[in-house]
Amino acid sequence: MQQIYLNYCQMCGKKLFLNDNRSKYCLKCNFYYYSFPTACVVLLLYTDSGDYLFIERSKNPDKGKLDFPGSFIRVEETAEITCKRVAFEEISLSNLDLEYFGSSHDYYGNDKNIPIISLLFTSKIDDSTIKRISPKNDASRAIFLSKKQVNNSKLAYASMIGEIEKLENYILGKKASS
Ligand SMILES: [Zn+2]
Repeated sequence: MQQIYLNYCQMCGKKLFLNDNRSKYCLKCNFYYYSFPTACVVLLLYTDSGDYLFIERSKNPDKGKLDFPGSFIRVEETAEITCKRVAFEEISLSNLDLEYFGSSHDYYGNDKNIPIISLLFTSKIDDSTIKRISPKNDASRAIFLSKKQVNNSKLAYASMIGEIEKLENYILGKKASS
């Protein structure tokens, strides 16, 4: 995977020169571009019976594939605000009691060449919350699946496999300690 996906300077439009593995350089602006990932939030919501909430993506990239509700973090947002926005925009939920659950990295786009870092947030959702779920915008459907029911080839992102694994262990640990 190439470290810097930009080929042209975002300020002047000149072609960038490769400086090293992790940076490119604009001769005109004297500016280095480093390979920083774009930040996203991902909502990992699960039911009492251990099913996970997936959405079917309504748009490309990866239209028709399974994803978790999520969004890029906008410039003016904190991750927590993005969580509130995406819960409302994609599945019509508000007032989720979310807990930070770590991060994972992956690549976005038609060519999967834009590096992203996903901040993961999780919450158990009860029956009354599940009834209020109404998919919209980037989500054409809301689907509940157990880990066993997930077909990895239907997932929009490879990192989701590790996220499901981590969540499964977390839920099992919670059950064992309660
Ligand atoms: Zn430039």
